Amino acid sequence: MALAEIQDRVRAAERAAGRPEGAVRLIAVSKMQPDARVEAVLDQGHRLFGENRVQEAAGKWPGFQSRFPDARVHLIGPLQTNKARQAMELFAAIHSLDRPRLAQALARLAQERGHCPDLFVQVNTGQEPQKAGIAPADLDAFVRDCRTLDLPVVGLMCIPPVADDPRRHFALLRSMADSNGLSGLSMGMSDDFEPAVAEGATHIRVGSAIFGARN
Ligand SMILES: *Cc1c(COP(=O)(O)O)cnc(C)c1O
Repeated sequence: MALAEIQDRVRAAERAAGRPEGAVRLIAVSKMQPDARVEAVLDQGHRLFGENRVQEAAGKWPGFQSRFPDARVHLIGPLQTNKARQAMELFAAIHSLDRPRLAQALARLAQERGHCPDLFVQVNTGQEPQKAGIAPADLDAFVRDCRTLDLPVVGLMCIPPVADDPRRHFALLRSMADSNGLSGLSMGMSDDFEPAVAEGATHIRVGSAIFGARN
């Protein structure tokens, strides 16, 4: 089964990189997958999932979680400020903190709730105009501002440009995390999670390689 095969490849990549077993958390990206496939992965004991839309996650995860209460979901896609409250209720972590206005909205809600999901700052490592994320040159100031707001920023996230060698972007993200004292690195997808593990990924986001092609 695909899940077991991916888990084996993650362990092998950890070993090859000289990293401890279990250093990398596998996020099974269940967006746009039929419920039966998600249930099959839950039935095999996997408990960490990723979704890229608040609405879609709200429609399916409360149901799954009533049967699998220890299942956790991370938001890996863009978040509108008017959905921030709902996102804070649904997700254990948000990997797409990508602008000051969202940071301010999350900080306000965190004060009110007394709790906030773990946050990853999305970095636009390829400086692509159509892609979300903080520009590398603005990152240090943004992380500082988030800390001033008391936000629990745990790491950085990136989605490399499709045409580039991803490894260069993973290495860049890692050096930016190091210089900001951040230990979390959300990087690597179905086609490039092995180089991401080699570059220090702590969270990989793997969808189609586990579940098959999306609808
Ligand atoms: C869809 C998605 C993934 C998973 O992509 P696959 O190629 O199916 O592994 C990972 N990260 C983000 C941000 C995504 O939107």
